[in-house]
This record gives sequence, C-alpha cells and structure tokens, in this order.
Amino acid sequence: MLDLDALRADTPGCRDQVFLDSAGSSLPPGPVLEEVIGHLRREARVGGYRAAGERADDIEGGHAVLADLLGCAPDEVAFTDSATRSWLSLLDSVPLAPGDRVLISEVEYGANAVALLRLAERNGTTVETVPSDGDGALSVPALRAMLDERVALVSLVHVPTNSGLVNPVREAAEAAHDAGALVLLDACQSVGQLPVRMEELGVDMLSGTGRKWLRGPRGTGFLAVRRASAHRLWPRLIDHSGAEWESAGTYRLRGDARAYQLWEFGAAERLGLIAAARYALDLGIAEIAAAVADRAARLRSGLAEIPGVAVRDIGREHGGIVTFTRAGVPAPDAAAALRERGIAVTVSSAATTRIDMARRGLETVVRASPHYFVSHTDIDTAIGAVAALKP
Ligand SMILES: *Cc1c(COP(=O)(O)O)cnc(C)c1O
Repeated sequence: MLDLDALRADTPGCRDQVFLDSAGSSLPPGPVLEEVIGHLRREARVGGYRAAGERADDIEGGHAVLADLLGCAPDEVAFTDSATRSWLSLLDSVPLAPGDRVLISEVEYGANAVALLRLAERNGTTVETVPSDGDGALSVPALRAMLDERVALVSLVHVPTNSGLVNPVREAAEAAHDAGALVLLDACQSVGQLPVRMEELGVDMLSGTGRKWLRGPRGTGFLAVRRASAHRLWPRLIDHSGAEWESAGTYRLRGDARAYQLWEFGAAERLGLIAAARYALDLGIAEIAAAVADRAARLRSGLAEIPGVAVRDIGREHGGIVTFTRAGVPAPDAAAALRERGIAVTVSSAATTRIDMARRGLETVVRASPHYFVSHTDIDTAIGAVAALKP
C-alpha cells in the first residue's frame, strides 16, 4: 500500500486543487523538482559543461534506471526530448520500400498519424487501419487477417490519449511477429501508470514521455530498442555522439540504442526524469497501478450514475484515464467550469485521435486522469462538481 499522506506531502500542487491531469502533464514530486532546480543553480555557478561533468555517473546511470522501468537492458535505452521525438526517430529508422504496408490502430495518436502520412507520401508506403473489436480495443484477429509479408511495421498505442482503454499489446505483437513485421509501441500514456515490460510485451521499439504519468519534467522523453531487433533498423537522424566521425569520409555507428540520442540535452531535465523514474520504481509499479486503477474506477462509477453524463471509455481493460461527456454542456465548457471549482481536467479533441473519435461521432470529451496522489475525497469532489454542471 502506498502512503497517501506522505505522497501528498511530497506533491505541493495537489493540496490546493483536485488535480486530474496526469495524462496531460502531471505534478512532479519534491525530489524531481529539487533535482531540476538544484542542477540549474549549479549550472549558473560553474557552467553547464562542468555541472554535467559532476553528475556524469548519475546521467550515465539513468540508462539503467529507465531499463529497470521498461523491462529491457541499459544499452537498449536512449533519452530524447519528447515522446514524439522518440517515435519519429524510431519510425525514420524503419526501412520502408514503396508498396510496404504500415498498420496502425483506430486510436493512433495524431502526431504519429500525420508523420506516417507524410512519410507515405514520400516513399510510397501505404498506411492502413486495423479495426477495433466490439468493445473498442484493437482486434487481434482483424490484425492477423491483415498481416502479410508486405507489412513492415505495426504501430501500437498501449493506452490512447482519449480513453481508459488498455490495448492487448502482447497478443498484437505476437501476431505481428508471426508475419515478420516490426512492432513500435507508443507507451506514452502507460509508462508510469501501468507495468510496461518490453520483454513481456514482446515489442521491438517503444516511445515514452517524462511529463505524464512518470511525473517528470516537460521536454523529456525516452525510447528503447530491443537488441535483437536493432539490426533491422537504420537510424538516420544521428549525430557525432551516436556515431564516431572516424575520418573525413567515414563514421562508425554506435552498436547500442544511444545511436538514437543526440549530444545536446537539458541536463537538469534529464536528471529530473531519472529522479522521476527512480521515484516510481521505489514506490513500486504494481502499487502505483493498483492505486491509479482504484481512483479511476471510483471516478468512472460515480460519473456513470449522474443523469446526462456518458462515460466514454472503450475496451474491456481500463487504466487511469477517464473520459466523459455531459449532455448539453460542450466538453470545453465543462472543463472550464470544473477548473473554476479547482478541479484540473483537460479536453481531448478529435484532432489527436481522429479515427476513433470519428467512428464514435465525438468531437471532444472531458479527460480526467487521477494519479495515485489523488485522494478519494478529491474524486468525490470531482463527481459532485460534474453532477452540478448546468446545461
Ligand atoms: C501525449 C501523447 C503523445 C505525445 O507525447 P509528447 O511527449 O507530447 O511528444 C504520444 N502518444 C500518446 C498516446 C500521447 O497521449
């Protein structure tokens, strides 16, 4: 069991509001804040290079911390500045020939989708959507039926940005691998709230962010590439830290995932992300997942009882994102009214998950994403405030 009082004491931002936006940008705990600010202060005293040098072991050790979190090896991890940067450089490393097929799911994230459409325009790849099952999760039988030897890549979203859905990643990855396709997992909304073990999920590549469920700083992201799959990829967006410039006309690419990492980075933010990952590991991912599920379930069932409120979460298995609409109150108005009452929620709009939202006839939903530091009292306050929304 997590110690709620201690966690809340460590989270100044959760005391004067009901904070339900860990799927957007969560509240960093004290140790993360201290790490970031402390390092910025040190940079101001001695300069960024020396300050980073003093923390070289911790920065280097970050690969092992992330590897612990992701169920992979330290040399399979690279740090980036956002989940999208991670996803883009992984996508760019997949060799795609004209006529190759890329499969996405109905909950593909907007950034990924437009990047794929853009790439397809240039190199003649086709992008096709795997239908969902009756509950709204990715249909593994439908995926199997679409797979053939022309499918180069299957893009999976573990938890979409706009609903509580948790997709059946392990089963989907297994199907993709049976057909010889690579699997890229967008784990942006799952790392930090659910166990995400690459070994168990069987994915080749993964992307994630620091600021959401991990409670790290903004401007941080990470990726991981399994060693067994690395030889099938061709990282193109490299620099002289990912590859050694040996002579004027030759270079030697690193053999590990750091080929995907650039030389320059915000050391304070990187250290903050590592501190956030360590914080989550110290609490225990299983304990975190249980606490998040408890808050989300309480919120979902409370909302479901309010006349005029429709919970919009799809799928059978649910995580910490709770989405809903209220009849007669557009989602942006509902979110604004809740914010006025000290309840931080966001709006998820069709532009970030077009295929899924169009299929369900939705333009916007209110998104509430309670982390483990949210109390039952907070949840009940939020339910009461939604019930009080006036059309
Ligand atoms: C937020 C989000 C992203 C993008 O993360 P950034 O860190 O903003 O690049 C990608 N996928 C999903 C499912 C997301 O919710």
